[in-house]
Amino acid sequence: MSADHDLIIVGAGAKAAGIATKVHVANTLGLARLSVKVIEGTEVAASWKGRNGMTSGEEPLAVTPIKDVGFPYRSHVEFGEAGEAIDAAMAQFTWQQHMIATRRYARWVDAGSPQVRHRDYGEYLSWVLSRATEGIEHLRARVSQVALDEGGERWVVEAEEDGGTSRHTSRALVLTGPGIHRAFPHEPAVVDRVFHCDSKREEFARIPEGERCDVAIVGGGESALSATMFLRELRPDCSFTVYTPLLPMSRGESVLENRVFSNPDVVEWESLDLQTRRDFVKHSDRGVFDPPSLGKIAYDDRVEFALGRVTDVGEAANGEGVSLECESPEGVFQSEHDYVANCTGFDLLAQLRTLFPAATREEIERRVGGLWGRPAGSEVPIGRFLELRGMQPCLHIPGLAGLSQGPGFANLGALGLLSNRVLQPLLSGVHSSGSGEILDTHKPVA
Ligand SMILES: Cc1cc2nc3c(=O)[nH]c(=O)nc-3n(C[C@H](O)[C@H](O)[C@H](O)COP(=O)(O)OP(=O)(O)OC[C@H]3O[C@@H](n4cnc5c(N)ncnc54)[C@H](O)[C@@H]3O)c2cc1C
Repeated sequence: MSADHDLIIVGAGAKAAGIATKVHVANTLGLARLSVKVIEGTEVAASWKGRNGMTSGEEPLAVTPIKDVGFPYRSHVEFGEAGEAIDAAMAQFTWQQHMIATRRYARWVDAGSPQVRHRDYGEYLSWVLSRATEGIEHLRARVSQVALDEGGERWVVEAEEDGGTSRHTSRALVLTGPGIHRAFPHEPAVVDRVFHCDSKREEFARIPEGERCDVAIVGGGESALSATMFLRELRPDCSFTVYTPLLPMSRGESVLENRVFSNPDVVEWESLDLQTRRDFVKHSDRGVFDPPSLGKIAYDDRVEFALGRVTDVGEAANGEGVSLECESPEGVFQSEHDYVANCTGFDLLAQLRTLFPAATREEIERRVGGLWGRPAGSEVPIGRFLELRGMQPCLHIPGLAGLSQGPGFANLGALGLLSNRVLQPLLSGVHSSGSGEILDTHKPVA
């Protein structure tokens, strides 16, 4: 059993980078003495570097990197005057500082600040995490189980390392990552011809090189576009049909939408009805393609779009491909392809179910209400601190907070705001003093 921590973060990715920098800064400024452990199973920024699936690293990041770990730099809202000092200190972790430190800033600006690749973003996150050190401990281990301690007051995290299993406790926990691919009905006979949005990129090498294969990409969002961009490069002789349940749409990115990402309070997000919030997320984040990437395939004859919701995948009539069953406004139809990629989205709850033992899952439901049976994409009771509402000790799941708290919390849209919200319960004294003096970092939140 290792020492107790204020906070444990599972996953050293984008959200961990945002929170770790804020803790480093608060500790360095003398505003707090927080201790945080970041536990990462693969490598720092594993999701972005191109070595661990989901991306080759070459695909473009949909968001501008200047929405960096401190963005939107409005910490005065959560922490009063101390927030201004926090944001000033956060300036050492900006994307621009990273580019200056690696001597590429002028070249990037002169090129018109173009989109960056996933691997560039991964490099940035690694750079950030290697510098956010004050109060931060890293552990390379895969978290295999999360439970409550006997008193039900602390989280006990079990981590599998090379040397065996270790246990770590904390009074709050952050779970990160996008989750696992959504269930995709397909028959066992075609399993080798089915890929998923989180399939390791090398698995796609099963598509034979130099042949004119026909690949179905199912999904109308970022991961469908990401898979299409990747496969066009990997197998230039292939053709692709992207199946979207509704007409394919590009992402709404006007100043108005962007402002809601940076500051959901500007529209009093929590007071909007569910349908309005769902519609906003749908046209600005989920199930939409980012315009610059879409532009790159606009004149590509190899890529076509089809309207239909794929409901089942079976074997093609000749036994050498897949047959998709699709529902469209005109009725049900079948279509055959050589391979299919399931890019219908991620299911974070499905992944979390595997982390908590049955007794803990039951205890969580006893405190917060029905949770584990909810379908992917449904609203989860997430509070202002991006925590599961009603759960003590705090369990922060920002990836599930998009619908309840604001569209930027489930992605990279507002990592600075996300970290403020998560840390608010631990830094409650900073806000109430408003003077930059912390009163009591261990004071429980009312
Ligand atoms: C291909 C792709 C492209 C995307 N592009 C964009 C984009 O351009 N803009 C945008 O806003 N959003 C994008 N997203 C959404 C993105 O997933 C979220 O923004 C992301 O989840 C935010 O970072 P994170 O810290 O939650 O997760 P990540 O950065 O994915 O970090 C999670 C980390 O947790 C680790 N981990 C997982 N399970 C365990 C375990 N049991 N034990 C220990 N460690 C574990 C992983 O190895 C990983 O390093 C993209 C997602 C995908 C899949």
